[in-house]
Amino acid sequence: MKKLFIPILFQAALAVGMAQIDQKALLVIDRVNVIPMTGEVILENQRVVIQGNEIIELGPSDSEMSNKGATLIDGRGKYLMPGFSEMHYHWRNREGGIQRDFNLMLAHGITTARNMGEYDWQDQITIRDQVRSGDLFGPNYYTTGPYLKAENLADSRTISETVRNHLNRGYDFIKLADNLPQEQFLALIDEAGKAGIPVIGHGQREMPLKFSVKMRSIEHVEEFVYIYSDKERVDPLFLQASLRQIAQSGVTIAPTLVVFKDILRYLDDPVFKNLPRVPEAKYMLAGDYDYWVSEDNPYRKDLKGKNIKGREALPVLREYFEWMMEYTRLLHKEGVPLMTGSDTFGFTVPGISLHREFELLNKAGMSPYQILKASTVIPARYLGREKLEGTVEIGKQANLVLLEDNPLEDIRNSRKISGVILRGRWIDRSHINRMLEEVQKLGPFASGTQSH
Ligand SMILES: [Zn+2]
Repeated sequence: MKKLFIPILFQAALAVGMAQIDQKALLVIDRVNVIPMTGEVILENQRVVIQGNEIIELGPSDSEMSNKGATLIDGRGKYLMPGFSEMHYHWRNREGGIQRDFNLMLAHGITTARNMGEYDWQDQITIRDQVRSGDLFGPNYYTTGPYLKAENLADSRTISETVRNHLNRGYDFIKLADNLPQEQFLALIDEAGKAGIPVIGHGQREMPLKFSVKMRSIEHVEEFVYIYSDKERVDPLFLQASLRQIAQSGVTIAPTLVVFKDILRYLDDPVFKNLPRVPEAKYMLAGDYDYWVSEDNPYRKDLKGKNIKGREALPVLREYFEWMMEYTRLLHKEGVPLMTGSDTFGFTVPGISLHREFELLNKAGMSPYQILKASTVIPARYLGREKLEGTVEIGKQANLVLLEDNPLEDIRNSRKISGVILRGRWIDRSHINRMLEEVQKLGPFASGTQSH
C-alpha cells in the first residue's frame, strides 16, 4: 500500500488529491480490544476490517485472515474506539494556517470538529469543502456562520436576510453570541426553524431560561452563571427546576470548562509564571505564546487587580468555576446531553485542550465512559450522523483512534494514541510525531526563533 502522505505546514496544496478516499483499500486491525461505544463494554481480541471509509467486518480474530493485500495493524494489547469530537473549535490565528490546527487535532485523536464562528479573514465554507474533497487533511468538519450580534438581527428584515444568507452559503449552524430582545430572538428561532438551520450559541442572559433552551445547543456552562441571578445559583429548589427544564427541552450543552480554567491560570500569579512549563506551550505559535505569557495577556489586562461585583476578580472567578463544575455534574445527572469541546484560544491549544476538558469532566463527576460518549455518540447524534458515526459497528465510517491503554479505566489513557484512522486511512505514531514536530517548528521553543 502506498505510504500515507501527511501534508506539512504551509504545504497543504501538496496534499491535493492525496487525502481522497481509496474506495478499495483494505485496512485490518487485528487482535484488538474494541470499545464499540454501543454500551460500556470491551470486545476482546477482535478483527476490524475497513474498506475505503467503511467498517465492513467486526468479529473475533480467531479465523484465518482472508484479506490478502490489506494493510495489517497488530492491535494486540491496544484499544480501538471512535475518534474524538472537538465540538467547540475556533481557528484563532491566521498566521499558522489551518493545517497546523488540523495536525494538532488529528494528532490528539480528534476526527470531528465543529467550528464555532467565522471571522472576517476566513472562509469556513471553503475549509469545510476542502476537507470533504480531500484538498485539506483535517477532521470531519462542521461550521457555523459568523458571530451574530444584536445589531445583525435588529428587525425582521435583517433576521430574514441572515437566515437566507446562511442557507445560501450552506453553513451548518447559526451562531448567536449576544443577548437579543425577546421579539427578535423568537423571530430568529422561528425563521431558522422553518429554514432547517439550528440556532446555537451563548445563553440569553437578559431573559429567563426558557428562551435559551429553545436553541439547539448552548455553549459554555459558564453561561448559566449569567442567565441565573446570584441568589438563584445557590437556591437548590430553583436549580432543581432549572435542570428539569433543560432536560425536557432537548437542548445539548457543550460545557467548555477548560477555557474558563485557563482564565484562572492567567490570573493566578504562581500558576501564570509556570505556564512556559505546561506541555501545551510548545504547540503554540511563537508570537501567540509571547503574547499570552506577557502582561498583555488579555485576561490579565482586563481582570488583574480588578473587581467583580465589588470583590477581587480571582476569588470570584474561582467560585464561578467551582459552581460550573458542580452544575456540569448536575446537568449530567439529570440526563442532559453534554458534548466535549474546549473553545480553543491562547493556552487552550487545539488537540491537547480536548484531553484537558476530558479530565475536568472527570473531576466534575462524569465517568470515563460517559465522557467518551460525550465525545463520540452524542456529537454524532447532535450532528445527525448517528447512522454513520459515533460507534464502532459494521457499516459505520472509519473515523477511529487506537489507544495504548484502556481509557475506560482512566480517562488520561485517551492521550496515549498509537494511531488514528481518518476516513479509512491509517495514520501511525511516527506520522503523528512528524505532524507534531512540524507544529513545534513554529513554536516558542524551536531553535532559531526569537523568543528563546
Ligand atoms: Zn467560542
